[in-house]
Amino acid sequence: MKLTVLGKYGPYGKAGDGAASSYLVENEGEYLVLDMGPGTLSRLQAAVDVKKVRYIWLSHLHYDHTSDFLAFRYLLEDLGHRVTLLTHQEDSDWYRLLTDHPLIAVQNIEENEPVRIGTMTLRFYAMKHTVPCHAIRIEGEKTLVYTGDTMYNENIPVAVRGADCILADCSKPVGFKGPHMTADIAEKLYDEFKIPIIATHLSPGYDPTQDFAACEGITVAEEGKTYEI
Ligand SMILES: [Zn+2]
Repeated sequence: MKLTVLGKYGPYGKAGDGAASSYLVENEGEYLVLDMGPGTLSRLQAAVDVKKVRYIWLSHLHYDHTSDFLAFRYLLEDLGHRVTLLTHQEDSDWYRLLTDHPLIAVQNIEENEPVRIGTMTLRFYAMKHTVPCHAIRIEGEKTLVYTGDTMYNENIPVAVRGADCILADCSKPVGFKGPHMTADIAEKLYDEFKIPIIATHLSPGYDPTQDFAACEGITVAEEGKTYEI
């Protein structure tokens, strides 16, 4: 299983060369895109033949995780390519805007209802954010968990148990008050489960690398890098 970081910042990209929230997962030739934040569509095209991408999953509908999905439809039209969007159903104008297109099939996900795509089994867990958000557990050749955006909550240990890697929203400085995890919480998570953590969702003006210097199990996500899980 491979994970490529297309964008790691939030709630917007870093000046010059940083993009917001998007990741590409490959498992035995099947691709799954996790979120599609601003600045990442160009990187997706550079990373993969988009015609091979059949599934997109959106953790939640904040703009920094979804906005390039709108421009993506122009590319789908040019390619005559159809995709399935996996996300939870929401009664909102943004949900309707994101989902309403003839080349986009929508599959609404639910907690406790696994979805099988290709050789991957996907499981979803409700997270704690300012809007409905899910973590995804991807079980294939390896098991990868992406937390989406969240504060620490009781579903995180359930989602990550036995996984090979956690891609986690845990890059805020200690003391940060907001709907994301901080560096000290990431260290506690690593101490408890001993699962390698890739820290992501960086604020454009803050680099948590020093926070994790003493914890060898946590690395800060690098845009453009492909990780072998
Ligand atoms: Zn968010």
